[in-house]
Amino acid sequence: MRKGLIFVISGPAGSGKGTVVKLLREMIPDLGFSVSATTRAPRPGEEDGVNYHFMDRERFKSLLEEGMILEHTEYCGNFYGTLKSEAEKVLSEGRDIILEIEVEGALQVKRLMPDECVTVMLIAPDRAELERRLRGRGTETDDVIMKRLERAVTEVGLAENYDYVVVNETDHSEECAAQIKSIITAEHSRYAMMKSTVESYSAE
Ligand code: 5GP
Repeated sequence: MRKGLIFVISGPAGSGKGTVVKLLREMIPDLGFSVSATTRAPRPGEEDGVNYHFMDRERFKSLLEEGMILEHTEYCGNFYGTLKSEAEKVLSEGRDIILEIEVEGALQVKRLMPDECVTVMLIAPDRAELERRLRGRGTETDDVIMKRLERAVTEVGLAENYDYVVVNETDHSEECAAQIKSIITAEHSRYAMMKSTVESYSAE
């Protein structure tokens, strides 16, 4: 059976990650997706079990203690984590899974499963464009925008720990998603992934 891989996509604020991941899932309908657990409150329009598994801190901590969580982080005062059951279900079907998670969690998955995990960081073309995107909504104060910018710049600074860095050019999300799709295709042609096919030649 084809072996499923875990594609971890991190995108600091302003990278346009949400749009790109949505396009990617449309391009590859078979791509599995994990619904994370979080202790943050649902935003208007978000549904439990669809956007996140929403839960209180007690429940999150007990899942952690029971070893049910593959990776987790505390982000802006809330816990976020990938449930092992979500990832295992997809991988056991031989399908790839995409995890849309922040940097700390991404590196945990890479450390735990180096052979199955491919990390991709999505970034805006440059710092000026990132700032323009963060200001774009016009709903936040200068102070908040500067904090989000600072955080995004710090996160981009961690890109050296990722396998791939993909630039999401403004108004070119389709090309960006296509680039990630080509990474997914290429990763399945690595020798390690094709080893059993190659070895089956000498077994005959
Ligand atoms: P938001 O609250 O905006 O939905 O998410 C905040 C951040 O948490 C985003 O960077 C998102 O990618 C990240 N995130 C969402 N789910 C998980 C998860 O399961 N694990 C980790 N490590 N980060 C997550």
